[in-house]
Amino acid sequence: MIRRLTPQLGFTLLVGVVGWAVLVAWSLTAPAAASAHHGPVTFGVFLAVILATRAMAFRIVADSVLSLDTGFHVAAAAALGPLAAGQLVALALTLDSVVRLVRARRRGIDVERVGYVLYFGGLTGALVAVVAWAVGPPNSTASELEVVCRVLAIGGALLIVHNAVQGARLALGGRAVGAFLRGQALPGIIAELALLPLAAVVVGLYHGQRPLGFGLLGATYVLINLVFNRLSRTSAALRARVRELEILDTTARGLAASLELQQLVATVARETLRAIPAAETMALVHRGAERETDHFVVDCYDRDRDVFTRLRIGRTDGVTGQVVAGQEPLRLDDLAASSIDLGPAGAEGVRSWLGVPIFMHGACEGVLVVQSRQAAAFTAQDQRLLASLALQVAAALENAHLYEMAMVDGLTGLFVRRYFDARIEEEFERSRRYGTAFAVVMMDIDDFKRLNDTHGHLAGDRVLRDVAAIVKNQMRGVDTAARYGGEELALILPRTELVSALNQAERVRAAIADHRVASSDDGPVLSVTASFGIAAFPESGATTAEELVRRADRALYRAKKAGKNRCELYWSDDSGGSRAAIAPN
Ligand code: GH3
Ligand code: MG
Ligand code: MG
Repeated sequence: MIRRLTPQLGFTLLVGVVGWAVLVAWSLTAPAAASAHHGPVTFGVFLAVILATRAMAFRIVADSVLSLDTGFHVAAAAALGPLAAGQLVALALTLDSVVRLVRARRRGIDVERVGYVLYFGGLTGALVAVVAWAVGPPNSTASELEVVCRVLAIGGALLIVHNAVQGARLALGGRAVGAFLRGQALPGIIAELALLPLAAVVVGLYHGQRPLGFGLLGATYVLINLVFNRLSRTSAALRARVRELEILDTTARGLAASLELQQLVATVARETLRAIPAAETMALVHRGAERETDHFVVDCYDRDRDVFTRLRIGRTDGVTGQVVAGQEPLRLDDLAASSIDLGPAGAEGVRSWLGVPIFMHGACEGVLVVQSRQAAAFTAQDQRLLASLALQVAAALENAHLYEMAMVDGLTGLFVRRYFDARIEEEFERSRRYGTAFAVVMMDIDDFKRLNDTHGHLAGDRVLRDVAAIVKNQMRGVDTAARYGGEELALILPRTELVSALNQAERVRAAIADHRVASSDDGPVLSVTASFGIAAFPESGATTAEELVRRADRALYRAKKAGKNRCELYWSDDSGGSRAAIAPN
């Protein structure tokens, strides 16, 4: 509730207090006759029309509502006199803003919002009284032309001063003045000016003692506001729908381009936070690459810190477990005021939480979550959009899984040969276009047939799996390791020259040679070695990716011939002889 006194809050409170002080002081010092020359019926009609137009206020920009009631403020000044009109307007607008404050209490009532009630009624009421007094409202003997001129003068002055004060208040809060003028002040002033002639007719009818016409025009005034209100709602709904469709379109493109799970998680995070700007963090709760049945992987992304984190939770844990069990979206507006446990996946200080189920083949296979530290940050529209995103995410997760099954070898977890062939073509093209180097390493386990024959195929499988794990451990993120054939692996090392590739292969070779594997749970401990052949682009002179692989294979053949457990390089004038090799000892 208690906040630092910002310049904007100070200004809001000051203007509100001054406005009310002017009205109260004037009311206390004015002769009783100044506010008594109208009946309660007239006062009631004006109050009803102003409240009705306020009830139909509409948005032209976020956080600012407009209603076309200035004309009626001016008409009130002519009918009731400046002071009574000021009191009337202050009363009506205070009532209106109190109702808005109570209705917005979900978002929290604070000093700023209460200050705004004081500001809005005090400023507008005092301005109506002072401006009408200064210009002079048209009286019952004024000519038609004079009525029109005075109404326009009072209305115009009110609009300009009111918008100037409001602009200053927003500027103190950091809003750009140009944007305020273009987006809010000018459209508002033009719409209000368009209704001022109607105010002149209201005044004419009032002074002409024609209550029926006066009442009907008041009703027309309210109707015009109703039409504006409907139009603005429809156009806002359409704009929101167009934005949603645009978001879904770009998301679909982004997700379609992300076949690998890691890349997919990054795309989902980026697109979700773009679609729902109120969200500060998101979490993609899914079954992960291992497709566990009783646990979920939670990939979280924090927009402010720009970090990804990953953790594992039980399928039924916390509030995501609730979404999975209920198979329904869940929106929580204020976690601070509830006893709900977010579970291990909940970020610190989160007050708003929105999660929608991710369905695959009719079953709930995950949850897409957005969170915010603000209370009531998410709307029903956000929920609908997130549910649409979840449909796309489900399809993308399914694609990533199929891709993984098609491209990753089951025994070793390395890519399959087909993937290697596609990647090396890509890398060859890229390196040729940008003139960068890259290397290919072919490796083959030494005497593997004998190991199989001696210890059995299962022991051979264990060895192969361990060798693959060692290779993966030694690789950089940009490298690709594939199972090329039975116990033959192939590596693509982008932006790597021959000598660096040799160093990297040598590290892998040494790590394999140092490794010990149990042949079975209680069997003898085994060790293996591997031989490596390395060729690099452009040093090898290969003109196609296929040729480059063949040359690395030729170097591997030489490594085998030269005694195994060693790395051999392919040179452009390779004649089959041993030009360079690294072998143990
Ligand atoms: P070298 O040192 O010359 O490479 O001798 P080697 O015995 O390793 O010869 P080669 O590369 O021709 O032998 C391949 C053997 O690898 C044949 C096959 O039994 C074994 N192998 C291939 N794939 C697998 C596999 O998935 N599991 C097991 N256990 N063995 C495999
Ligand atoms: Mg072999
Ligand atoms: Mg082999």
